[in-house]
Amino acid sequence: MRENVLIKSEILLGLPDFQITGIQRHGGNLRVSASYIGPRVCAHCGSTRLRNKGWVQRTVRHEDWGLRHEVLLLWVPKSKCLVCGRYSRQSLPGILRYQRASEAFQKAIYQQHLDGVNRSCLGRRERIGAATVERYFRHGLQRQFREWHPPACPVLLGIDEHFFTRRKGYATTFCDLRHHKIYDVVLGRSEDALKGYLARLEGKAAVQMVCMDLATVYRSLVHKYFPHAQIVADRFHVIRLVNHHFLACWKDLDPVGSKNRGLLSLLRRHPQNLKPEQKLRLEAYLATQPALETIYGFKQRLCSLLLNKQRTRRQCRKLIPRFLRTVSELRQAILPHLVQLGETLYSWRDEIAAMWRFTRNNGITEGFHNKMELISRQAYGFRNFENYRLRVKVLCS
Ligand SMILES: [Zn+2]
Repeated sequence: MRENVLIKSEILLGLPDFQITGIQRHGGNLRVSASYIGPRVCAHCGSTRLRNKGWVQRTVRHEDWGLRHEVLLLWVPKSKCLVCGRYSRQSLPGILRYQRASEAFQKAIYQQHLDGVNRSCLGRRERIGAATVERYFRHGLQRQFREWHPPACPVLLGIDEHFFTRRKGYATTFCDLRHHKIYDVVLGRSEDALKGYLARLEGKAAVQMVCMDLATVYRSLVHKYFPHAQIVADRFHVIRLVNHHFLACWKDLDPVGSKNRGLLSLLRRHPQNLKPEQKLRLEAYLATQPALETIYGFKQRLCSLLLNKQRTRRQCRKLIPRFLRTVSELRQAILPHLVQLGETLYSWRDEIAAMWRFTRNNGITEGFHNKMELISRQAYGFRNFENYRLRVKVLCS
């Protein structure tokens, strides 16, 4: 009989070692009284040789029953330890010390806030403060974070910057490209801002590959802190750079035509993505601009060269002289934008050549940047970078 009551109590409460002694309705809410009947141990030394010192009542908020709030009135034994001589109250399963809500209730709040119910609304609905919602949510994030954050740095790393706030500026993202997870975000993008973090980072020597955009600060940091890593340029950023300089050239050559947005869209696209009628329009325009036509052809050849991927070592050996020839042509050009592009590509020649060997790129990181923006907007922006970091690390993995 006693066993039976125990099991029913556990089913109703979702907590072990309690016996329900009464259920009352109180202003539309539930008040459940229960007594602790589990094993007793000293909170200080763990001894079971105790002298009973009476009972004390704890009031604890618990999971809702539908829309009705539930409050537990728990009778908890006090005792004096016969080994260490100290007094203690019995610690309870599923309810942490000093907490006025059970773990189950806190988890429910965490989940609802994570699903997008905002703090003030959730606080009103549950009759708790907005700050309490925030606190439970942060505990939940920390719990998740402890469960799955690996201490060592990922072997395939993607590094990129993203905008955080106007006051604090940019942040740097470290992305695990093999497992499609965000490893970490760090405030700042300069060497001074990152060197402390990188010095502390574990597993740097095991990093094999780092993918990044063409930022010299990141390159020098990687050379310094990841001695065995191969730097790979991010294909998307390289192509974007080529397009940027090409369009700047176009502005110099034809200031009037370059204001035409239709033409801009045609010149930006890869030729294979153009419809037949669009191709005709583009050809007609280029026929009137012979200098531009040459540069356009040159740009297309350069882009198709850069778009190679998953090449073997031997295939790469054939591509390298073609690339170097193109770059030296650029550096000898008359137009300043082309010269500048040539210089940049020349300084990144090793990283760009490495791009042909790999398929991985920072597309994953860019995708996560979208999600981080969403996290930031859902919270109406962050003032505290650590709060933002914790959310990003738990939600983007
Ligand atoms: Zn003791």
